Amino acid sequence: MSRQFMKKSCLLGNQHQCMIRLSTLRYRMTRSQSPLPFIGVSLFFWIAMNFTLSHAAPAKIVLEEVKHQDKSYITLESVKNFYQFSTIHREGKKISLDQPKIKFQLSVGDQECSLNGVKFVCSDPVVEVGTHTCISRLDLQKLIEPVLRPSYIKGAGQFRTVILDAGHGGKDSGAVNAYNTEKAYNLTVAQQVKKTLTAKGFRVIMTRESDTYLSLQERVDIANAVKDSAVFISIHFNAGGRSARGIETFTLSPAGVAHYGRASRESDAQEIQGNQNDSANIALATAVHGQLRVRLGANTYDRGIKRARYSVLTGVKHPAILVEGGFMSHPYESRLIQNPKYLEAVSRGISDAVLLYRRAVTPRTNQTAP
Ligand SMILES: [Zn+2]
Repeated sequence: MSRQFMKKSCLLGNQHQCMIRLSTLRYRMTRSQSPLPFIGVSLFFWIAMNFTLSHAAPAKIVLEEVKHQDKSYITLESVKNFYQFSTIHREGKKISLDQPKIKFQLSVGDQECSLNGVKFVCSDPVVEVGTHTCISRLDLQKLIEPVLRPSYIKGAGQFRTVILDAGHGGKDSGAVNAYNTEKAYNLTVAQQVKKTLTAKGFRVIMTRESDTYLSLQERVDIANAVKDSAVFISIHFNAGGRSARGIETFTLSPAGVAHYGRASRESDAQEIQGNQNDSANIALATAVHGQLRVRLGANTYDRGIKRARYSVLTGVKHPAILVEGGFMSHPYESRLIQNPKYLEAVSRGISDAVLLYRRAVTPRTNQTAP
């Protein structure tokens, strides 16, 4: 049985129009080539860069909820109407909701979805309930809504402090390969981002400024000692099997969602400190991940935005993400990472994203309370 519901805050429908600007960055590198210079990109990427409210009385659009195995799901047909997608198209298991500027792709039985090509790992797979195809209510509220309508995230735009956490340090090298250590790459990127954001008028706090060891709790404590509004970005590079490559961005799992790749635990059900920023967390992750894709282009592979329970994400009171800028264990990608231009592209992607995020989450002047 289905019933309709109206979420009391940001899911109420208004006539709106989403607009994006997509980068047209085009360059490629083959395995046989040495790393090429990275070109600058002036265009920003955001799923819903801007939207305007109609002065006409908004149509009352409701999201249709259905129950499936004791969980709440929302029909994609009502998602289409609510977010004013013009079409919904299905071919086999693949579904696409389209507006002139937004392409939302999902697949039945799959947890991955994409918005304008940016990959997200949802909390639940897309399911079929009776004649309806549905996305979980949790994913709609905690992922789709803040990404499509970032300016409705309460209070998120009021910050001028950025906390940069260069992962590892001192006796903890992080990943190590024939070229360098992860702790060194992390610090280089953090220092470059600091320089750029400071020049843009931000106050930048670093958890470490040199090759020193800090426990995870010390990083959390430094971040939480920042009393004014801030965002927290933890910078890392990855290691894994020899074929693993690409970028991935982590943000805290909403209550009830496990750490990526592991079975859920009883404690996952609890709302914790970082969950106060669920909407801002995913919006910040989207900005950073999207900008890294723009800056790195064909030199990277998109592993997606994922949910995790790393201690810096669970304990920091500010919107927080952890970004992995590539795999030091991949033979080709390790050479790329060793190239200063690659690190610079990662740094510029993060810096661009902070500016973009702040602009995207700042309420529009003609915006009424949702
Ligand atoms: Zn690391």
